[in-house]
Amino acid sequence: MSHFSNKIAVVTGAGRGIGQEIARTLAAQGAKVAVLSRNPASCAQAAESINADFPGTATAYAVDVADHEAVQEVAKRIGEELGTVNILVNNAGVTRDGLLMRMKEEDWDTVLDTNLKGAFNTVKAFMRVLMKAQDPRIINIASVIGLIGNPGQTNYSASKAGLIGFTKAVARELAGRSVTCNAVAPGFIDTDMTGELPPAIKDAVLAKIPLGSFGATQDIAAMVAFLASPAARYITGQVIAVDGGMTM
Ligand code: NAP
Repeated sequence: MSHFSNKIAVVTGAGRGIGQEIARTLAAQGAKVAVLSRNPASCAQAAESINADFPGTATAYAVDVADHEAVQEVAKRIGEELGTVNILVNNAGVTRDGLLMRMKEEDWDTVLDTNLKGAFNTVKAFMRVLMKAQDPRIINIASVIGLIGNPGQTNYSASKAGLIGFTKAVARELAGRSVTCNAVAPGFIDTDMTGELPPAIKDAVLAKIPLGSFGATQDIAAMVAFLASPAARYITGQVIAVDGGMTM
């Protein structure tokens, strides 16, 4: 498959988990991928591992998406080094769970700055380029928690609900330039983020999933690849849950 030959994709939070799988899937289908992640070592390692399978496809750019200036600078470098970006995937995300009663201001700020402001920063940095690109796409990785809420995750729920509102407004602003903007809302996917949860919580989540299992990173990457493809040109402003039926 080569849906994405001659296409350049930027994937944030691609050092691990869902983001790395998205970057790998786009690379497998011919894209040149800018692998963005916070930790320089895991960022470089992710690009190396993608290049081992698909030589010459991945370039690492270590950046904190919450840092507005740094994102502008990295966008400039990507433009110079890789060329015109067609696909932007906002996947970088963190959790700082805790009941609201005990939540610290810092836990609120870190989650909102990464999950929501991070997407503002990247869309601002790449929107001019996207408006001139072929088949331009913005895909934001939200969460079912942004749709249904979750005790202990007021900060995360707010960030993901905010990201969904942002997605729809961006979709409306950029539709005239054929840039589509959609959100994917994963359910419970096996990654480091969910690996930290205690077994009792995992069992309680599992009981609420009609399809009876947690999702895999590939389940999310496949949806992102579809939304990024020319076949999805008429879909914009949507939130697509990939959640084993959790939110139906
Ligand atoms: P993960 O395994 O924890 O990986 C998160 C990635 O994001 C890491 O590469 C991390 O970099 C990067 N990142 C974090 N903060 C960043 C920042 N400020 N700037 C740049 N990169 C940053 O998470 P995941 O489970 O793959 O989740 C990926 C996305 O899917 C997140 O937005 C998450 O909210 C969403 N999601 C996940 C699930 C799930 O069940 N796993 C469900 C719904 C939604 P470092 O390696 O440097 O930390």
